[in-house]
Amino acid sequence: MTTKDIKKEIEELRKAIERHDHLYYVLDKPSITDQEYDKLYRKLKDLEDAHPELITPDSPTQRVGGKPAKNFPTVKHMTPMMSLDNTYSADEIRQFDERVRKNLSGEKVEYVVELKFDGVSIALLYKDGKWVRGATRGDGVEGDDVSANLRTIRSIPLAFREEAGKTPEAIEVRGEVYMTKKALEKLNEEKERAGEELFANPRNAAAGSLKLLDPKTVASRGLDIYVYGAGFYKGINFKTHAEILEYLKEAGFRVNPHYKICRTIDEVIDYCDSFEDKRYKFDFEIDGMVLKVNDLGQEKRLGATAKSPRWAIAYKFPAEKALTEVKDIIVGVGRTGAITPVAILEPVHLSGTTVSRASLHNFDEIARLDVKIGDKVYVEKSGEIIPKVISVAKEKRVGKEKEFAIPAKCPACGSKLVRGREEVAIRCENVGCPAQIKEAVLHFASRDAMDIENMGEAIVDQLVDKGLIKDYGDIYHLKFDDVKSLERFAAKSASNLVSAIEESKNRDLHRLIYGLGIRHVGEQTAWVLANHFGSMEKLQRSSQEELTEVPDMGPVMAESVYNFFRNKENLSVLKKLKDAGLKMAGEVKKVNAGPLSGKTVVITGTLESFSRHDAEEAVRNAGGTPASGVSKNTDFLVAGEEAGSKLEKAKALGVKIISEEEFKKLLK
Ligand SMILES: [Zn+2]
Repeated sequence: MTTKDIKKEIEELRKAIERHDHLYYVLDKPSITDQEYDKLYRKLKDLEDAHPELITPDSPTQRVGGKPAKNFPTVKHMTPMMSLDNTYSADEIRQFDERVRKNLSGEKVEYVVELKFDGVSIALLYKDGKWVRGATRGDGVEGDDVSANLRTIRSIPLAFREEAGKTPEAIEVRGEVYMTKKALEKLNEEKERAGEELFANPRNAAAGSLKLLDPKTVASRGLDIYVYGAGFYKGINFKTHAEILEYLKEAGFRVNPHYKICRTIDEVIDYCDSFEDKRYKFDFEIDGMVLKVNDLGQEKRLGATAKSPRWAIAYKFPAEKALTEVKDIIVGVGRTGAITPVAILEPVHLSGTTVSRASLHNFDEIARLDVKIGDKVYVEKSGEIIPKVISVAKEKRVGKEKEFAIPAKCPACGSKLVRGREEVAIRCENVGCPAQIKEAVLHFASRDAMDIENMGEAIVDQLVDKGLIKDYGDIYHLKFDDVKSLERFAAKSASNLVSAIEESKNRDLHRLIYGLGIRHVGEQTAWVLANHFGSMEKLQRSSQEELTEVPDMGPVMAESVYNFFRNKENLSVLKKLKDAGLKMAGEVKKVNAGPLSGKTVVITGTLESFSRHDAEEAVRNAGGTPASGVSKNTDFLVAGEEAGSKLEKAKALGVKIISEEEFKKLLK
């Protein structure tokens, strides 16, 4: 075969696979068997493997091929993604309709009524029918570019279908990424087995999944999308919103079939009401309905307030309540160590599901509600997967109810529990606690802490699950063969990881202190502690009073640091780090002394000669305090290339804005 023939065959295979993806993932009407599909896919994959120069980013094989990201670049939406105002009753819907008609001087108005999905709003940008990128809503003006993760959702077309006819020059398609009820249930079961905190609702689950750094993990999460409009378009014209929906359907997008053009507000209300029960039959969660003015000319004339459009509004379903008995109260450990109480209930029917447990959030909430074991309580579910106890039916008490006793020891590791000052939560502060280990190791290895390259979620999961590490101290006692035994690990990547671990032994003391994951100790505090004490030894031996005297340290932080070094499990982890030969000392420097002494500095945009992290470190070394957000207390904003909203805010607040060059001069 000539290269031309191969190229042609590859293109034909891609077209065929995209057609079958559309039939399967969008229309739910596959026309071939899974085996036949796999055969096509394998054929394409083999051809591409043999001719890697012919791989293009829009090939179906590239959906899950993306490399783990380090972060998500910020992108500006073509037009702002506004949030909708909410209504909660038929009366409020009527009031909205009156406002709309008044603003249109009494013209006739048609509404399109759609489902309100409980997920994450995103914007998909296409140019000349090809997918360019996808971003989260963010603050409405700018969002995070999560294209690599969105690409794993196979119902998002990589190209417009020819059947749609005309292809716009550019279009920003709006939609909602969601997780099906089933996928969320499965994910939460896995999390429960792993002793991790559960996702409270489908929205959190979808948002959390889209922010994962590894597209491969995202692909396994079972995300899907419904699109419901276009924020911006060029080179195409529409008269009504319903026309846009039909067009998007033709172009290959997944548009939910449950929408209706309503000519009267009574029709709107009836349609909304009809879903109050029907919604439990869907395999995805909706928390209400959305009304939009159908005529785009009217939409334009109605415009928007600073916050939300005047031509659309959300209607939220009322939350359902049920009365049941608290059989028991148990506690779990979240992955950051917070101990959370959960009420075990007599199973009761609520919002289309059987509910047998309810969240009690924290121990103060138990006291506030005055809930006892044996009490009859009202539970409510409002978009949350785990319902919550909202009140106790005290008139139903019979005198046999039992007071709940707050546990003294962690249910996962037996370590003594600590209640911090000014804190609601009770926590397990053992960094080797099995319930917290993955999170603790990831934090320890993260870029701003010990910066162990490639030690990401997938690897940490395996190391912990296989019992190769029980805490971050064990990282330094891993053998080459241990690492090589991990899935998808070749000799080369294993030796890369081993040398990355070795290299991290020399990180500066403040990074190590930050990596320990002491509660309330962020990068800035870790830096201050390292420079004040100069060694881990001195920090460890310091009294609470001494700690309180350190510049910038409050009593809460001082107590947290003091307690950390009094936990015997933590000391044994620390010993492992010492034994491995990590750098445990630095120099004693005067904190807050230097050319930027007492100044608060915010860095934004891309700098030429510093990474964000290095720039912040430079600020600290010069005696200043780096901050992430601009406020009236900001002394300088260092604005690099492509500075966005922070620059605008600094201008509005009159904060002094300096260039990278001026920043460098200040440091000297
Ligand atoms: Zn524990």
